[in-house]
Amino acid sequence: MVVFCFLVDQRRMVRSSKPAAGICSRCGGCASVADMETATRFCYVPLYRKTWRAIICTFCGALLKSYR
Ligand SMILES: [Zn+2]
Repeated sequence: MVVFCFLVDQRRMVRSSKPAAGICSRCGGCASVADMETATRFCYVPLYRKTWRAIICTFCGALLKSYR
């Protein structure tokens, strides 16, 4: 069986979020504080995983501010 390895895959996920004060500078939607998780995988093998906190727009998903 051939295993295809194409590329490094990085995905950003929102683990949880709750409403925050402020509005989005792009669309004017509601901002929320979110616990983000960035997972980097290579050939579907997880390399590392990082959790961080950011303020995102719940409407358009824009990243308004991040705390790293
Ligand atoms: Zn927005």
